[in-house]
Amino acid sequence: MMLEPGSFGRSFRVGRILGIRLSVHWSLLVIAALAILRGAPYGLWILGAHVCMALLGTLSILWHELAHALTARLLGYPTLQIELHAFGGLAHIGRQMRPHHDLLVSIAGPASSLCLSALLMGLSRLAPGLWAPWMIFSLAEWNLAVGLFNLIPSPPLDGGRVLLAQFERRFGLPGLFWAYTIGLWTAAAAAAVALFLSQTIALVVLGLSCQTAHDGRKQTLERLGYMPAFPLRIAVPWPWRAWRDRRAVQDVTRQLDALVAEHAASLVRRGDAKTDPADEATATKRRES
Ligand SMILES: [Zn+2]
Repeated sequence: MMLEPGSFGRSFRVGRILGIRLSVHWSLLVIAALAILRGAPYGLWILGAHVCMALLGTLSILWHELAHALTARLLGYPTLQIELHAFGGLAHIGRQMRPHHDLLVSIAGPASSLCLSALLMGLSRLAPGLWAPWMIFSLAEWNLAVGLFNLIPSPPLDGGRVLLAQFERRFGLPGLFWAYTIGLWTAAAAAAVALFLSQTIALVVLGLSCQTAHDGRKQTLERLGYMPAFPLRIAVPWPWRAWRDRRAVQDVTRQLDALVAEHAASLVRRGDAKTDPADEATATKRRES
């Protein structure tokens, strides 16, 4: 996950890793307390295993966020800090990224989690006599879940950032509006699955995702000039607003359709230009001369 600086409340600075400030949000202490409470009634060994798993799970999140942060740094962006909290982690990048850089930085996190998962799965199979293979396998499963969950196409999850960056790059503001709309419905559907599976942490993150996508959708409509500012909005009667908003969505859809058609036509033109024998002959002549 990646958000702008200061998006979660109070966190404590715990040091630096590879020159990047590392902070821990107070909510992570709740997870630590839960691990201790769950393991304590079953003796010292089970307590140790629970605390160890919570620690390794947190380190896996740090690995994921480091992949975002270091990719951003490689591309020349300042990485302000990595923040770990109860619902995962955040890499705060200091500057607005270009869409294609945003794509690379967003993908780096899930890719690193999936690679680590594959590595740990292999390790648990290849070395069955290894210390606590079940722990390595559980950690592999956790990293697989982190990687796949972050690919859900809803902001602020990594998949959502990819979707927003690509749609905005190709189709401008109408594209951004539809990316937020897709994000909103995907997060709502995923939240229903999380509720069915009783996955509380996933449910909270997906709730945050729904809110982010909803706000983004609304702001994009405002930027497109379809919604008046707040004091005016409450003055407009509800049925009129509903009718106008429906019209706004229809207008944005029409704009997007036109942009998609234009984009497809430009791709066809580019393809024709590449395969046109006349052009090919001219290019050959130019190369010969
Ligand atoms: Zn991420």
